[in-house]
Amino acid sequence: MAKPQEKKKVSGRWNMYNKTGDKLERKNKSCPKCGSGTFMAKHGNRETCGSCRYTTFNTQSK
Ligand SMILES: [Zn+2]
Repeated sequence: MAKPQEKKKVSGRWNMYNKTGDKLERKNKSCPKCGSGTFMAKHGNRETCGSCRYTTFNTQSK
């Protein structure tokens, strides 16, 4: 008997992707300093790169 596949929490880098059909879309921006492989983490109104600590502030009002 094959076990039914458990739904695991998506963790790590793949959490940054949004799968829509066959496309993978990045949810977060990538770091302009580190390149497209490094994502910015969202913290309230700012985004920080976990690698180089580059931070951008979102000042746009929605
Ligand atoms: Zn960076």
